[in-house]
Amino acid sequence: MNVYDGLRIAAMLEHHGFTQTDNIADADIILLNTCAVRAKATDKVYSALGRIRRAKKPDAIYGIVGCVARESGSDAFRKIKDLNFVLGPQSYHKLPEILSDPDTKLLDINLGGLEKFDELPPITKSPYVAYIPVQEGCNHCCTYCIVPYTRGPEISRPFDDIIAETQHAADVGAIEICFLGQNVNGYKYTDKNGKTYRLSDIIQETAKISNINRIRFTSSYPTEMTDDLIELFGTEKKLLPFLNMPIQSGSDNILKKMNRQYSLAEYIKIIDKFKHVQPNIQISSDFIVGFPGESEQDFEQTMDVAKRIGYINSYSFKYSPRPHTAAAIMPDQIPENIKSERLIKLDALLNDRQREFNLSCIDKIFDCLYESPDKTGIKHIYRTPYMQPCIVTTDKPTPMAKIKITSANKSCLHGKIID
Ligand code: SAH
Repeated sequence: MNVYDGLRIAAMLEHHGFTQTDNIADADIILLNTCAVRAKATDKVYSALGRIRRAKKPDAIYGIVGCVARESGSDAFRKIKDLNFVLGPQSYHKLPEILSDPDTKLLDINLGGLEKFDELPPITKSPYVAYIPVQEGCNHCCTYCIVPYTRGPEISRPFDDIIAETQHAADVGAIEICFLGQNVNGYKYTDKNGKTYRLSDIIQETAKISNINRIRFTSSYPTEMTDDLIELFGTEKKLLPFLNMPIQSGSDNILKKMNRQYSLAEYIKIIDKFKHVQPNIQISSDFIVGFPGESEQDFEQTMDVAKRIGYINSYSFKYSPRPHTAAAIMPDQIPENIKSERLIKLDALLNDRQREFNLSCIDKIFDCLYESPDKTGIKHIYRTPYMQPCIVTTDKPTPMAKIKITSANKSCLHGKIID
């Protein structure tokens, strides 16, 4: 989501005559687009602002946008006196106001919903992967999560707007579309004729665009996986057979305290439905360890489910207490050293499984999408349909290539272009 917001902000500033620079000392305007999901990301913002302050030209204006801006509000101006702007994730389109009057302080952390999508100029060139938001905000009040506070309640964008933006991204270079939302599969929009659209309608309409070869979406909530969406994994060839469906914990006791609205058994039933329509599907998950009250037994249940489902490419985090959330004030907070021990154990298991899956890909042939040169600049990185990085040697990288996998390790694949 922040990648998308960053591109739109860049397009907006270009529209106002700015060009991008990597050198802070050259910049006339500097902004940090921020994430507030875990404390670590938030803590980094203020030290980064201090570094920017020392490196920037004296008259350059600077500020923060995104979720930390929303969380801090005017406190940010108290902490850093000469900061110029603080704009929440749904008000960054107001940035040009500061350009006309750089001596003011611009603060807007309102949750205005969809206004920003209409106000911003379209991108002029797309990377091969285009991120397109379909909804913003989240109505699932998971007790650990700050997102309902920072991005507000769910609002779905009009279906026609999403398709127009997708078509535009394809026209200016996109080959893969990743639909975005804090609760992407909760997408629901009813037009003025009373017709209701779901995520499955967006995917089917997008699949008709001939330049688009691959479609995926994130982040999804398990119980919002409706049958129309699940069935598409069996019928729509452009939809990648790879899905991020966070379980967070394998313990029913902890899932309840997290206010996740499913039990382990219900979650597994949903996975079985996917496997039934698409036997090649692979799933990744997000996990939180050390949630308040998590016993050794609860944690072992998370380890068991990670083993049982055999996730690939998962994300795992130590629970981080966040302001405006119910879990932050729950009793039985888990000490940091226990969280760390549990994270190490879970990561070891997830890494083993990832290595195992990568090794199982040897000799297989995948349609892959070009990403970038590798660090050496001699080889090139592609992405498989399971989003694994795959390194190949080629003089002429094409946007899509058929690649035969020749070797693999935990973090990547190596292959040969065969077509
Ligand atoms: N649906 C959200 C999820 C983003 S957060 C969105 O798309 O914006 C991504 C992951 O961070 C979550 O799935 C969860 O595993 C983790 N997370 C969220 N809040 C957390 C917290 N307080 N501490 C640790 N991890 C957290």
